Amino acid sequence: MSAIKEKSLKYNLHSWSAQGAIDPTVITKAEGIYFWDEDGKKYYDMSAQLVNSNLGHGNKAIVNAIKEQADKIPFIGPGFSLDVRSDAAEAIVEASGLKGAKVFFTNAGAESNENAIKMAKQYTGRWKIFSMYRCYHGSSAGAGMLTGEPRHFANEPGPAGFVKYDGPYAYRAPKACKFENEDDVADFYLELLTNQVKYEGPESIAAIFMESVVGSNGILIPPAKYVKGVRELCTKYGILLVCDEVMAGWYRTGTCFAFQQFEIEPDLITFAKGCTCGYVPLGGVIACEKIAKYFDDHKMMCGLTYSAHPIGCAAAVATLNEYKNLNIADNVAKQGKVLGQLLEDLKEKHACVGEVRYIGLFSAFELVKDKQTREPIVAFNEDPQGLMNKIIGMLKKEGFYTYSHENMIIVAPPLIITEEELREAMGILDRVMDSVDNMIK
Ligand code: PLP
Repeated sequence: MSAIKEKSLKYNLHSWSAQGAIDPTVITKAEGIYFWDEDGKKYYDMSAQLVNSNLGHGNKAIVNAIKEQADKIPFIGPGFSLDVRSDAAEAIVEASGLKGAKVFFTNAGAESNENAIKMAKQYTGRWKIFSMYRCYHGSSAGAGMLTGEPRHFANEPGPAGFVKYDGPYAYRAPKACKFENEDDVADFYLELLTNQVKYEGPESIAAIFMESVVGSNGILIPPAKYVKGVRELCTKYGILLVCDEVMAGWYRTGTCFAFQQFEIEPDLITFAKGCTCGYVPLGGVIACEKIAKYFDDHKMMCGLTYSAHPIGCAAAVATLNEYKNLNIADNVAKQGKVLGQLLEDLKEKHACVGEVRYIGLFSAFELVKDKQTREPIVAFNEDPQGLMNKIIGMLKKEGFYTYSHENMIIVAPPLIITEEELREAMGILDRVMDSVDNMIK
């Protein structure tokens, strides 16, 4: 074992892991859509790290902006005005299309959701917060309670008022459901949510949170009719609609924010990840005009030492410019089509590939034991043999780096990927799925 790995295992606590069971690869170089380990082995970064490395590794414009800001003013308290602070907020508000909106900056996704919860409670004077099962919103005390899957178990019992609802997931809908089209899916899940809102008492509900497109829980793309329906429900009852764009935002789905695919306007938008592509941490909450105005004469009870950190803001300005300079929206549209076709081919060819879901360069597929019954290759929250880790390990061995969730494999490469790179990487995936087909025989 190399000295670096040995030291890491001795001193670092690694996320979401039994520490005795991990083998953290030592990375020595990263460039474009690739990174290399200490043995010189090259990997396709097919999850863009944690779906945040949208512009890949080694982007000079972002690095230079960080260096320049570090030379100029690396830190000044959040109460001061600063060119990059205002520029970053302006660019983000413009990207959202929300006229009159303002930004409160945080350091990451969970913190953005924590502060959105507080803003929603303060603005509405209500206390209940709805969020979806099979959504991830972060792991801190409040954001962890929003999270609707096993990663929130360690937050329980947590603060009161968090209510979960079932969002659209046609592939694994209750057996009695007979959906003929997307409208049926939208109607069914809207009816569930509407009833739940009524049962909980709309006058007690501050906000409904949703990931505009569910990310780490398997790229669950809601029908547009559903998203519009949730917007109408919120408006009807004075509930705030909060779109979590931490993973789906920043051109991942093709549009700058994923909610823009559904022609709605949220009241609050939370973001992080792709706003700086991980070069330095930054996140935030975009508050629509009415909420921003509310805080003109009500003290906003949110604050962080590192809110609107100058280096984060400088990185965000450079990153947003790069999205435009590199025509990222066009590349996502182009490569998204290629990826979609390659995933459909994968499903056609492999017995183990149940459903494929994709929008832009945001995709996942479900591994099943049987296509007819849709029985997942591992049961929900149960994988005693570590089968999914084994499959992810097989991909990694072939140079295809990504991660899994339950029985699903995420494919979400950096948005700068070329068609040639995409086809090469998906060729690896195809070959590894041959082996998985043999495993389920
Ligand atoms: N929201 C979504 C949709 C996410 O995918 C994540 C992280 O993956 C978060 C929030 C939490 O972000 P962070 O890990 O930066 O706190």
